[in-house]
Formats: sequence, structure tokens, C-alpha cells
Amino acid sequence: MKAVVRKTARVQHRPASRSNERRLVTQHPRRRVLSLAAGAAAMPAAARMAWAQSYPSRPITIVVPFAAGGPTDLIARTLADNMRTAFGQPVIIENVSGAGGTIGVGRVARATPDGYTLSIGQNALGCAARRIDHGARRLRVETSNGAITADAVIVTLPSNVIAEETLVFTPALSEKVEAAAGLPLGLADKLFLALSDADEFEKDSRLFGRTDRSATGVYHFRPFGRPQIEAYFGGAFAAELEKAGRAAFLECATAELVGLLGSDFARRLNAVGLHRWGVDPFSRGSYSYARPGKAECRRALAAPVEDRLFFAGEACSLGHFSTAHGAYLTGVAAADQVVAARTQKRAGSYS
Ligand SMILES: Cc1cc2nc3c(=O)[nH]c(=O)nc-3n(C[C@H](O)[C@H](O)[C@H](O)COP(=O)(O)OP(=O)(O)OC[C@H]3O[C@@H](n4cnc5c(N)ncnc54)[C@H](O)[C@@H]3O)c2cc1C
Repeated sequence: MKAVVRKTARVQHRPASRSNERRLVTQHPRRRVLSLAAGAAAMPAAARMAWAQSYPSRPITIVVPFAAGGPTDLIARTLADNMRTAFGQPVIIENVSGAGGTIGVGRVARATPDGYTLSIGQNALGCAARRIDHGARRLRVETSNGAITADAVIVTLPSNVIAEETLVFTPALSEKVEAAAGLPLGLADKLFLALSDADEFEKDSRLFGRTDRSATGVYHFRPFGRPQIEAYFGGAFAAELEKAGRAAFLECATAELVGLLGSDFARRLNAVGLHRWGVDPFSRGSYSYARPGKAECRRALAAPVEDRLFFAGEACSLGHFSTAHGAYLTGVAAADQVVAARTQKRAGSYS
């Protein structure tokens, strides 16, 4: 999930004093192997900040706790562009990298809590979100590392995680759970094999394990020229292998490659990496497809709730679902919605 949060001090078990509050902006990158994902996302509280008509009356600094040019930096700069337009004030990006993001986040935590020093960063919270309580004036995001209160949240979870209610909304949002269930995730698993004497094969050449059935692997030799084979397993066959366990992928690949290239070939292979997206509790699959008649679920999943719970992620994309750019574009759209909702609220509070 991506977030702009007003963090209660320490995100832990005792109530935070207001003077300790700082603003954080957390976000998640595209799919990759993550041990634990950062939590949810939220916008700073207009009311509790007592947004005076003069705010912001001077430049805002966003500390990016990672190097310039990376995904976090890119999202911060996109967000900053929107903020400049909405606030009419300069928004400065400061890259403070090191120690997995904690140095930059630490700097923000120590800054004066006046709303002029913000942070954005993946894994700034380093924990899983379990519940979003949207029953009160402020949203409460419960994570495995404590609770956060916020004015707005952008939820960018894989559809299966929403459908399985790994993260719970209170009060329940059955329309979101139903929409997500209409957009389950298919499977595309990859096994990487080190290959000795790889030069024998052409860079980026491919072999199909079997051509007489779909339950087979596809083998990409020397991806990027590396001495490796990238083996793909998809759909029901990948699900079957996941169920059988990690070793089943290597057994299948070895048997198919030996069948094609001779029994000696087994000695040239060494498994170096495998990701099973279906059993990954933070993914539960690879990318979404709409069940027959359920294409409209994408619109339903993407729809904001009460102008403070926003949704993004590839499954929310009407035209670019199942892709990284679909995820990115829905994230930008959700950020725009947050800014628009907040701008409207500010305008309302002035009238
Ligand atoms: C093998 C494979 C190959 C692909 N190839 C391509 C390609 O070539 N081109 C392309 O465009 N797309 C490709 N994709 C698809 C693309 O990667 C995805 O569509 C995209 O990453 C989805 O982004 P997302 O933000 O919607 O979801 P994700 O990237 O899945 O992000 C969701 C985040 O939510 C986190 N999360 C889950 N549960 C919780 C929780 N309880 N609390 C907090 N955080 C949580 C996860 O850790 C994750 O970081 C590929 C996908 C796979 C699996």
C-alpha cells in the first residue's frame, strides 16, 4: 500500500503526545520479492494540523530516504508536482539515503512538527497492515507494528489479499471484497538456474519443455547474456507445482531439459532462485484477470470511499491491468484524487 501518513510517535503501543507527531509519506514499489511490506497510507490531518488559511505559507521539503532516480524518488517528484500546483508553494525534494531509509526518516522524525518537513519512503513502516478502521473521524491503520492515524489512505494491495481479507476494513467494505474476488490473480512463477558452459547457447534463445500439452515449462537461455536459464511456469500447472513444494520446480525443469538435451545436461544445472507468487502471503498470485462478466469490478475496486480511502494497483486499471505501468498510473491517479479531495476540503473550510 502507498501512503501519506501522519505518524503517531513510534507507531507503537502507547498513545503519542501530539507534539511528537511527524508526517510521513510511505509508498510501495512494483511487485518484487519483499520480506515484509510497509503498511498503509494516509494523508496528514487537516483538522488536527489546524490548517490555518496561511498553510502552506512557505516551501515544503519532502525528504526521500533513498537515492535520486529510484522508484521512491520518482513517486516523490510526481507527488511534489501535484502539491506545487495545489498549494502554490515550492516543494523541495531532498534525497537523504542510507541505512535502508532510516536516516532520512529519522531526520523527518526530528524535524519541527509544523507540516513543512515530510517524508516518503518504501518500508518506512516495515510491517504489514492488518486493519483499516474508517468508522471514526480519522482513519486508523492497524499494522503488525502498531497503529497509525491518518486523514486519507491509498490502498494498493494485490486483489487476492483484499478478497481473502488479510487486511480487514471496519466497517466492512463488502463491495471492495466482492470486486477484488472478481479479479483474481493468475500465476506466472519463475525458477532461475545457473548454467555451466552457457556460451554453447545463443543469448535470449528459448526452448519449450513440451509442445503437446500446456503443463510445461518455457526456458529462456542466457537472459541479458547471463549464464542462466530463466524457467517460466504458468497457470494451473504452476499452481500444481507450488502445491508440490519448491523441489517440484527443479525436478520438472531438469526432467524436461534432460528430455530435450540429453541426460548429461542435468549436471550443468544449479537452482539459484525461485519465486512462488501464489504462496507468497503478500501477493497470493502474479497478476489479475477478470472473471467472465466481471470486467466492471476494476472500476468498483478503484472507486474511492468517503473521499478518504483511495485504491490503486494494477487490478484497478481499466486499460493497463496486469502490468507495472497500470499499477503506476493508478497510483498517480489515486494521488491526484487525494490532492483534489484535500484541496476541496481546504476550500470548504475557508468558506
Ligand atoms: C513473474 C512476473 C512477471 C511480470 N512481468 C511484467 C512485465 O514484463 N511487464 C509488466 O508491465 N508487468 C509485469 N508483471 C506484472 C507487474 O509486476 C504487476 O502488475 C505490478 O507489479 C503490480 O503492482 P501493484 O502495485 O498493483 O501490486 P504489487 O507490486 O503486488 O504491490 C502490492 C504491495 O502490497 C504489499 N502488501 C501485501 N499485503 C500487504 C499488507 N497486508 N500490508 C502492507 N503491504 C502489503 C506487497 O508486499 C506489495 O509490495 C509481472 C509480474 C510477475 C509476477
